[in-house]
Amino acid sequence: MRKILITRAVFPEVVAALSRRFEVVHNAEDRPWPPEELARRLEGVSGAMATVMDKFDEPILAQCAQLKVISNIAVGYNNIDVPACTRRGIRVTNTPGVLDDTTADLTWSLLMAAARRIAEADAYVRRGDWKIAFGVQYFLGQDIHHATLGIIGMGRIGQAIARRASGFDMRVLYNNRSRLSESDEKRLNATRVERDELLAQSDFVVVMVPYSPATHHMIGAAEIAKMKPNAILVNSARGGVVDDAALVEALKARRIAGAGLDVFEGEPKLHPELAALPNVVLTPHIGSASRATRVVMCNAAAGNMTAVLEGREPANPVN
Ligand code: NAP
Repeated sequence: MRKILITRAVFPEVVAALSRRFEVVHNAEDRPWPPEELARRLEGVSGAMATVMDKFDEPILAQCAQLKVISNIAVGYNNIDVPACTRRGIRVTNTPGVLDDTTADLTWSLLMAAARRIAEADAYVRRGDWKIAFGVQYFLGQDIHHATLGIIGMGRIGQAIARRASGFDMRVLYNNRSRLSESDEKRLNATRVERDELLAQSDFVVVMVPYSPATHHMIGAAEIAKMKPNAILVNSARGGVVDDAALVEALKARRIAGAGLDVFEGEPKLHPELAALPNVVLTPHIGSASRATRVVMCNAAAGNMTAVLEGREPANPVN
């Protein structure tokens, strides 16, 4: 029986299904393995079901001669050196599509929470600071309805975010390197503009691009300086797409009104000043975290890995 490794705790039904075909080593304890331990546990393993926390770089890959497939339980795969895998004949797969709506929902949760200062207001009530029942000027926030939403990265998830904007009668701008088809633009009621125009016109800027050297610090001090003073920035894509230090400076100076962040540079560590800022809403990389979606993602990842190991083409090949 071939050996497979599941690097973090997944659902028992997924482990049970894989155990019928493979010898399964499952990190049921869910303690993230440091690189040396990951390399050691990969010895003799043919397939790895992994998360974005597991870095598969040249030094690790050099130690796993038997590895045939890395099946990421994620759509993003910036944790994997894909060209190095290709050189070594290792297939890489991901789970696109099945998490679009769940991630779009979370992105909207951050947008709305930042716009209406939900986290700040919640903390105020819990602290017992709410002494007078109503104030005309309490916790004034930004209107979402009829505002302009700018989406940088109008792919699967970006489009799911855009679809939700119609209920709020929003104007939707987007920026991709390539333009959507006319029919998709019409269906989404979205207009492609250059990035600078999007930054200058949007009340809400959402980034939803994959992380790569090309998107590293795509939003930094210069880009934030182009945003409106009432604007809110939402990053539920990947840490590193936004320059967190530049964002902290902008939020401190009230250069923009707020931010909603699900992902961070160097997560789980935060920029040291981020948590003290009232005008930012923070969640711990939970974009696709509904039970239903995570089960579907795990099953998709298991299916991709099984296909490769049984000599079939996986549903979601990256290389
Ligand atoms: P996708 O369908 O590939 O969409 C990515 C979009 O980004 C494409 O429309 C692409 O269009 C655009 N893009 C890429 N590089 C760009 C650039 N330099 N400038 C402007 N646009 C650029 O991917 P997806 O499924 O929507 O997922 C997007 C990312 O979301 C994932 O890679 C992942 O990192 C992140 N994500 C995060 C969570 C979470 O838990 N927070 C959950 C799911 C996904 P062009 O190629 O035309 O530029």
